Formats: sequence, C-alpha cells, structure tokens
Amino acid sequence: TYVITDACVDRTDRTCLDHCPVDCIRPGERMLYIDPDACIDCGACEQVCPQDAIFFAAELPQDRQVFLQVNAEFHEGV
Ligand code: SF4
Repeated sequence: TYVITDACVDRTDRTCLDHCPVDCIRPGERMLYIDPDACIDCGACEQVCPQDAIFFAAELPQDRQVFLQVNAEFHEGV
C-alpha cells in the first residue's frame, strides 16, 4: 500500500483524489487517508502530490512509520 503522511496535514491539496484509479483515498478533518485494503500500489497519487506527502509503505521514512497505522485505522473507523 501507499501511505499519506504528515506533510498532508492542513494542506489537503486533493489532487490525488482525481488520480486514484480505485477511489481508495478519503478526506478526513485535517488530511487524506489511503485504504490499505483497496490500494493497488499504482503510485499515481505519489507522483501528483505537491507536498510529497505520499510514500510506498516499504519506503516510509523511519520517523513516519506511524502513518501506516494512521491511514489504516481511518478506514477501519469508516
Ligand atoms: Fe490509489 Fe494508486 Fe495511490 Fe494506491 S497508489 S492510493 S491505488 S493512486
């Protein structure tokens, strides 16, 4: 899965929403979240994010590992 991180917080540019082929990105209060069960790892969102907020899970920087869980939990709560 791909993961949205803190660089999205209070920016929510939303360009990624128009590029996801499976419509698995949802907006929350302060950032957007990717549903890990629906993401097909196409990478389209990562390429269009103006904040560079999106990472492939295996390439998440060490200090942003928590966002793997943050994205997943958002969708569990929906
Ligand atoms: Fe959607 Fe592709 Fe981004 Fe996954 S990697 S959230 S499928 S645009």
